[in-house]
Amino acid sequence: MKSGYVALIGRPNVGKSTLMNRLIGQKIAITSEKPQTTRNRIVTVYTDGRGQIVFTDTPGMHRAKTKLGEYMVSAAERSISDADVILWLVEASEYIGKGDRIIAEKLRDAGKPVILAVNKTDALEQRDMVLPVMARFNELARIDEIVPVSALKGYNTDELLKVLFDYLPEGPMYFDEDTVTDQPMRQIAAELIREKALRLLSDEVPHSIAVVIERMTEREDGMYDIDASIVCERDAHKAIIIGKGGSMLKRIGTEARRDIEEMTQAKANLKLWVKVREGWRDSDVQMKNFGYDKKEL
Ligand code: GDP
Ligand code: MG
Repeated sequence: MKSGYVALIGRPNVGKSTLMNRLIGQKIAITSEKPQTTRNRIVTVYTDGRGQIVFTDTPGMHRAKTKLGEYMVSAAERSISDADVILWLVEASEYIGKGDRIIAEKLRDAGKPVILAVNKTDALEQRDMVLPVMARFNELARIDEIVPVSALKGYNTDELLKVLFDYLPEGPMYFDEDTVTDQPMRQIAAELIREKALRLLSDEVPHSIAVVIERMTEREDGMYDIDASIVCERDAHKAIIIGKGGSMLKRIGTEARRDIEEMTQAKANLKLWVKVREGWRDSDVQMKNFGYDKKEL
């Protein structure tokens, strides 16, 4: 049996969370077109006859401007140091950003196998346009293998799994074969709500949002009652999140409830509130309250 940890790294927005959900066949990590959607280190588990892969989906590497930003960068670094294999995800474009150069440097010192997956090949006009991209990254960094994929369409992801198993060591199963993630259900519920807020709200608001599940209880018939708060940093943002006559909050709630029902395979009664906590992203205490605890990395 092969088994081990695969750290999924890459610039914000290249499709890391989408790829991870695709590989394990379930929605665990939230995604959006906005950078820095992922904040925590999320662990998911893929098991088949060949063995077990434990993926860690990390926040994209970026320059930290707040304590929350520092937390996100440490989460990514911790993932790399724990990994047996690095899965570096880039977009199928010849542009190499500063983030890619920083990652290339970190990988040089990591001394671990590096698999480069070139994502979003579905967006290319022609499939062979991926070749110069592969060549560019090969020059930039020490890479053991390159696999073009589309996380969104599922193109070539089986090949990617095969390559990952090739590079993983022999080892025991770390998790029970039914395990898909180490994330508690209430944390996934909070993330699903945050995803809807990210997707529906205009650009400046989402980065300052946290979601806290105040209560999540199961009724005898299996239905869930969930009370959750969306935390933001300003009154003006609160007004935007609530929307005219409560319309935005209602949309966030409806869409989040659908995803939560799919995850739990049960009905859910979701109630949302909005709270203002000025400067929470630079407060250790508040960050901890909202689920971003450095000690847990
Ligand atoms: P992350 O920040 O690296 O985790 O990126 P996400 O997984 O959140 O994805 C960022 C955006 O890219 C989302 O809008 C995804 O739908 C989109 N995306 C991810 N994978 C693909 C892909 O293979 N093809 C295309 N066209 N879009 C993708
Ligand atoms: Mg992500």
